[in-house]
Amino acid sequence: MRKRFNGSFTQQDKIPDEGIEAVTAVLQHGRLHRYNVTDGEWGETALFEQEFAHMIGSRYAVAVASGGYALATALRALDVGHGDKVLTNTFTLAPVPGAIASVGAQPIFVEVTEGLKIDLNDLQSKIDKANVLLLSHMRGHICDMDQLMGLCDAAGVRVIEDCAHTLGARWRTVPSGRHGEIGCYSFQTYKHMNSGEGGLLITDNSQIAARTIILSGSYMHYEKHHAAPPPEAFAELKYTTPNVSGRMDNVRAAILRPQLRTLPRRVRHWNDRYSRLVSGLSDLPGLTLVRRSDDEQFVGSSLQFLLLDWPKPNVLEVVDRCRERGVELKWFGADEPAGFTSKYDSWRFAPSEPMPRSDRVLAGLLDMRIPLTFDLADCDLIAEIIRDEVSEVYASLTKARL
Ligand SMILES: *Cc1c(COP(=O)(O)O)cnc(C)c1O
Repeated sequence: MRKRFNGSFTQQDKIPDEGIEAVTAVLQHGRLHRYNVTDGEWGETALFEQEFAHMIGSRYAVAVASGGYALATALRALDVGHGDKVLTNTFTLAPVPGAIASVGAQPIFVEVTEGLKIDLNDLQSKIDKANVLLLSHMRGHICDMDQLMGLCDAAGVRVIEDCAHTLGARWRTVPSGRHGEIGCYSFQTYKHMNSGEGGLLITDNSQIAARTIILSGSYMHYEKHHAAPPPEAFAELKYTTPNVSGRMDNVRAAILRPQLRTLPRRVRHWNDRYSRLVSGLSDLPGLTLVRRSDDEQFVGSSLQFLLLDWPKPNVLEVVDRCRERGVELKWFGADEPAGFTSKYDSWRFAPSEPMPRSDRVLAGLLDMRIPLTFDLADCDLIAEIIRDEVSEVYASLTKARL
């Protein structure tokens, strides 16, 4: 009998009790809207913003309805609009080009390396084509941020970081999201903090912070923000900045505040599981693991590996065989978008040049979630199943090639 894995790749761990109690308190007093506060009261959302800014080291933070909304708001705050071009990664998820499209702009895609990072040579060659880079640290892979910022600063390109998969991560000692002008986070269920839906932006720039607050739908309640610039910063902007409602509410903020405190522990748990999977999959012919730099203090909440230059039917065979044994792998090389997984050439709202290096990488790229409901023994079993199936398919492939 071949072993089978019976866990769920989509089941997250529970919300901390403290969060459940805080939500109950909000439900009982009924003041769910972030600006619905009594005299002298600070709502959960304002407190969450303040605590988040403190944790990450930013001057300002603005909580919003989703990660995708945070990205679009960041673009608006930098005045990106109709017909503008925005540099971005080919390897990312649909909300990234979606945010660009939502402001009427168009992406200029930058290739991905075999290390799953933005290709800095390709970025250099396209750097004069746009004023903004929307950099996605897709699946937690962080490129050399010193080099990237050097390149963008020299060209006058402003950087927005999409940190949907890097909350809790660092490049050297700097938290992910603190290199660019704006950092964006997502609290959707599959990210590092879970409130079902939710997002947040950070910045040190008071003009950007003020614009973001008004954009997010503050009406004229900007004085009810803690992690915000003083009222003077809003004096002119309140007349010229549109209200594009996408606020966070006090229920979500109440769920999230205790998770700020448990984040470091959860990061360790993810990394323990990630290392266990990596050691189970190392030195396997045909399978390439992604090498990580010592400067990249990543969060191993998912694992990627490459079956580089394999014919597509054989990659698909691995996916199918693993699925039969309970191991869910997502394939970035599929012709049709499915579930959360799609790639740049299926985003027809955001046309692209041919991207041959990305095509090669994505064609062999397999991706797996690591929910914290898995224990280390689960990781051993998952690695064993992937190992078996990859070796068997690879053996038939090399035999056929002889
Ligand atoms: C999840 C995600 C986002 C934001 O998504 P929302 O579902 O809008 O919160 C942005 N970028 C990437 C790479 C993501 O995975």
